Amino acid sequence: MATPLSSDARHALANRIRFYQEMGIYDFYRREGVPTAVEAAQPSSEIPEVSTQPEQREAMSPRKSAVAVSAPPEANIFEVLTSLPETGVADPAKALKIIREDLGACTRCRLHKQGRKQIVWGVGDANADVMFIGEAPGADEDIQGEPFVGRAGQLLTNMIKAMGLARERVYIANIIKCRPPNNRTPERDECETCSPFLMRQIATIKPKVIVALGAVAARTLLAINDSMSNLRGRWYEFRPAGVRGTDPNWSSAKLAVTYHPAFLLRDPRQKKEAWKDLQMVMKELGLKAPAKSE
Ligand code: URA
Repeated sequence: MATPLSSDARHALANRIRFYQEMGIYDFYRREGVPTAVEAAQPSSEIPEVSTQPEQREAMSPRKSAVAVSAPPEANIFEVLTSLPETGVADPAKALKIIREDLGACTRCRLHKQGRKQIVWGVGDANADVMFIGEAPGADEDIQGEPFVGRAGQLLTNMIKAMGLARERVYIANIIKCRPPNNRTPERDECETCSPFLMRQIATIKPKVIVALGAVAARTLLAINDSMSNLRGRWYEFRPAGVRGTDPNWSSAKLAVTYHPAFLLRDPRQKKEAWKDLQMVMKELGLKAPAKSE
């Protein structure tokens, strides 16, 4: 039978599990006969490192998420710790708020001390059928706290209108939520640190379609390191990594890749190609382009 934990041990264990979960390690299993993190976290001894050596890593599977850690004493600590704070919240707008609160004044990666003014969360309809996901906030977004509000954002808004939609009816986010210095490309570890929150946004909104804007978004979401010409022009099935869905009606979105609006501003000849991508999305969603006069 399991030995009850002291409150110090629970607290220590909670902190340790939260630390691993924020690094993307989500599931912890107890193996019979092997000292577990629970046993090792007894207050009399120092909290040991949970090994990530290959032979012990089988006890954990990759997962990207942050979780709430307060646990009632009698509850199964693993169940409590591995459920996300938004789990069971029926209203997606409320669930998004909870995830935003969980993100807090994030200092999880170096970008918080490299000149970001604010976290750029996401904007739009929490019930949207379609999500547009870009790369990272730029200078305008950093100032205004909203994704895609600069020149590239104006073009994105026009692209959305051309699809017969309104900006307010879709949801717009980025792979990372803080502006990289001088708008440099996000580093891989920055994307990995930030993406659990994007995964939770996606799992909350449950879009029918995701449009990845540009190579960074496409490669990060699909974990495929390929050229834009190879990535575009087809559908992918996208399941948000590490988020256990509880909705029997939604487990994945269809994902399409198109050019980033900033790229289209630099090379407007490619707009024709981007329009083909958007038409593929419109067909999927049963959308019609508005008549010219609208
Ligand atoms: N580029 C992006 O990828 N995202 C923004 O929010 C703005 C510009």
